[in-house]
Amino acid sequence: MGRRSDRAQGNGARPVSGADESHGANTRLVGAGRREEWTGPVVNPPVWRASTHLYPDTAALREGGKHNADGRFFYGRRGAPTQWALADALTGLEPGAAGTVLYPSGVAAIAGALMAVLRPGDVLLVTDNAYEPSRIMANGLLKRFGVESRFFDPLDVEGFASRFCDRTRAVLLESPGSLTMEVCDVPALAAIAREKGAVSLIDNTWASALGFPALERGCDIAIMSLTKHVGGHSDLMMGAASAGDRWYGPLRQTAQALGHVVSPDDASLALRGLRTMGVRLEKSAESALAIARWLAGREEVAQVLCPMLPGAPGHDLWRRDFTGGCGLFSFVLKGRDAAAAARFVDALTLFGIGFSWGGYESLALPIDPAAIRSATPWPPADRNPADRWGVRLSIGLEDAGDLIRDLERGFAAMEQA
Ligand SMILES: *Cc1c(COP(=O)(O)O)cnc(C)c1O
Repeated sequence: MGRRSDRAQGNGARPVSGADESHGANTRLVGAGRREEWTGPVVNPPVWRASTHLYPDTAALREGGKHNADGRFFYGRRGAPTQWALADALTGLEPGAAGTVLYPSGVAAIAGALMAVLRPGDVLLVTDNAYEPSRIMANGLLKRFGVESRFFDPLDVEGFASRFCDRTRAVLLESPGSLTMEVCDVPALAAIAREKGAVSLIDNTWASALGFPALERGCDIAIMSLTKHVGGHSDLMMGAASAGDRWYGPLRQTAQALGHVVSPDDASLALRGLRTMGVRLEKSAESALAIARWLAGREEVAQVLCPMLPGAPGHDLWRRDFTGGCGLFSFVLKGRDAAAAARFVDALTLFGIGFSWGGYESLALPIDPAAIRSATPWPPADRNPADRWGVRLSIGLEDAGDLIRDLERGFAAMEQA
């Protein structure tokens, strides 16, 4: 957990790097979280493995227990400089954030943030294209704690206002949505939520703060799975939630009450990933766009769901609101079934088959969006109902030409029933 104002308060926390908010994203990524008293004379914040923090005497021990401020030693559950450096770095990258809380996974970040906001009897509005575990959480865990979840069509801004009642406490957004990649009008939806007195949370894993400054666009809490772009190497799990002054405190208190803590080794890996996140995102987005263009010209493809692609669904809002993209997108197969999608994916040799995304290596996954929505039809009403199955690609850092040749192999295998 790390708070931006520590620096302003002059508690001795001095950034090693001269990078600040006036600099570009890549400059800030290089300098983020590298404070002198946490890092010492080396470049990277060292790994502080610590449960017990020793006090010089019992008076200091008693005194230590009275303060619960960021960047203060107490006990390992409140972290140590490695975790503080990562949280501080993420806060610095999110315009409008007062602080960031780290969680052991992205799902834990979503659960932790929702629990910081919701009470029994509340209604939560959830976007219908939410990440599947978010749906499961809404229909399971949250229900058990007395929260009622209602799913809404993320593209129906007009209808959104009518979904609120006097028990509506929070809204969970995600843009682009999982699997189907719809880009919603986040500023408009967040403004409506605010007007109705509800808290808006957004799962901003796809774009990260680099591509979509969620708090600046009107959201109250920005959540990210650091497992994806920040880690970037498919070898760690972590999540984060950043918020302004109103919600940072409740996020932090709830995380402490739930005992959320991340390992300093993983925090160190996440910090390492963060340094190159800008160039990785840029490169994978560029390859993804080239591959999306190529897929759009294939006769086996009904639709490419890639907001970065001109003419694709959500492209205009993506251009208006986003400053970057990434390598994750989907495409819908023309009238093919589950077995065809599986043949396609099984034939790929450069793409791994597996969950997650945002690593340096490309991944592919057959998808059936129809199975995980309730408020909106899939395929959408204006599309051919036979165009249901698709494939989600996470484009990594391989050469795009090689990946395209691999996808060609997939299409050939798909037709050999
Ligand atoms: C992967 C993912 C998560 C969950 O992150 P984990 O770190 O795997 O728990 C949350 N939201 C989205 C959109 C994701 O893709």
